[in-house]
Amino acid sequence: PARVSSALFEQAQRRPEAAAVSDHLGRGLNYQQLAAVVQQTAEKLTTQGVCRGDRVLLINENCVPVLVLILALSELGAWPVVVNARMAAAEIDRIRSHCQPRLALYLMDSQAAAAQWQTLQSASVGSDCMLNVVGGEVACRTYETQRLPQDQQLSDQGVFTLIYTTGTTGDPKGVMLTHRNVLYVAAVSGALRGLSADDRVYLVLPVSHIFGLSAVFLASIYAGAELIVADRFDPAQAMQTMRERQVSGIFGVPAMFARLADHARSTGISGADLPALRFMYSGGAPLDPAIKLKTEKLFSLPLLNGYGMTESGPTICQVRYNEPLDNCSVGRPLPGMEIRLLGPDGKPVADGEVGELHIRGPNIMLGYYHNPQATAAVLDADGFLNTGDLVKLDERGNVHIAGRSKELIIHSGFNVYPPEVEGVISAHPQVLLCAVIGREAEGNEMVVAYVQLAGGSDLDEETLQTWLKPRLTAYKRPSQIIFMDPLPTAPSGKVLKHKLQSAAR
Ligand code: ATP
Ligand code: MG
Repeated sequence: PARVSSALFEQAQRRPEAAAVSDHLGRGLNYQQLAAVVQQTAEKLTTQGVCRGDRVLLINENCVPVLVLILALSELGAWPVVVNARMAAAEIDRIRSHCQPRLALYLMDSQAAAAQWQTLQSASVGSDCMLNVVGGEVACRTYETQRLPQDQQLSDQGVFTLIYTTGTTGDPKGVMLTHRNVLYVAAVSGALRGLSADDRVYLVLPVSHIFGLSAVFLASIYAGAELIVADRFDPAQAMQTMRERQVSGIFGVPAMFARLADHARSTGISGADLPALRFMYSGGAPLDPAIKLKTEKLFSLPLLNGYGMTESGPTICQVRYNEPLDNCSVGRPLPGMEIRLLGPDGKPVADGEVGELHIRGPNIMLGYYHNPQATAAVLDADGFLNTGDLVKLDERGNVHIAGRSKELIIHSGFNVYPPEVEGVISAHPQVLLCAVIGREAEGNEMVVAYVQLAGGSDLDEETLQTWLKPRLTAYKRPSQIIFMDPLPTAPSGKVLKHKLQSAAR
């Protein structure tokens, strides 16, 4: 298909009656209905003055109308800028002023979006109106914007979306992804999951994050699967929905699986209660061995790991569903991707050594929007993207992520990789989540661990330090453990280390 929306229309032709999407408000559409609603919505947006190349801000939590709007904008060649309504108003406003949207659409089903509509109303410059999309109220605000020059033809090389990075290491960056970028990921990563029209996928990762948008939502539409849409993650609700709706596949960040496993342990629910469940995929952040083990034991299924980033639409590496691994490797690169592991001198590292990962393939972004310097800093003339992640390869060609180069802690001359320390701390039965950062003190970089305890735990720092002693080499052990509940997270559930850094100062 040439466009993201074409993937939907092909499915609507092939299997019109097959269930496509449904949410907790009982809105369910088959593929034919979804295609029709997308066409109608595209017409409504045209009436609102939306043209090719216009940025359109979608302030939402997951629901059927937002999926319809994304596909309708794709059909028009306008760029959906999907923003989670749970972000702070100031953060949303920063994105608004960066992307200069023609329209901002607030999905009023979401209480959070309705509240944002109230707070941001004062910033309005144009006239407001309401649109109805699949029974959902969408508040619509028009802005004066400059239009971008457009090519005559809509092609798969055109921008599909402008999507912001998580902001783990700093302010979120706006990434321009083309239709081709995300269609490649949908097709290839979907195939490696064995995703098909028989699947029922639980879409709880927000579509404001590339993992939910591309690897879950678009890949499922591409495969003709059914999506069960949830607006936010709650372990009890997730278990109930998965059981009642016979979900066959779930995708989440590791923190989500940690909470699911904790919930299952405390309620006695197990994999036996979810007979339809066929696969579980983790991604978006380092997977701790302890979380992987706990989850696999409770659900009697392998937890498959995948690795990616917003800039690559997102999938780079993925464990094949029929070749599960007994370690936390992210598997092999997608077919069609080239990888290079480079040392600090810019030369390839020796076999088995850690290097910074550079990648090239059909999923690499066009660039950061309105930020040529940042683009030039990561994308070279040959089309290789520097991921900023330190990785190594094993004999079987599987990639192991050591951590981000930016987050590497150099303590008394020794390299400390935060994910390794996090993995050891998370193995404590009373630890739910852990995030390790470096903090400058007395000319050295100290290892600081932030820990969120499992429900009902009264673990203290001394006990945890004593427990760590035989498990972690001295230079890797935290000089300080700070208990925090909850750890600061993005709407996707990823821990925002950047916020811990500023809290540590
Ligand atoms: P920002 O770029 O704004 O600082 P971010 O890098 O967290 O935030 P994303 O694009 O959401 O924004 O995340 C991509 C990063 O997440 C990768 O570069 C990598 O560091 C990490 N990551 C993703 N998947 C995995 C995984 N399976 N294992 C380890 N790390 C992962
Ligand atoms: Mg990043």
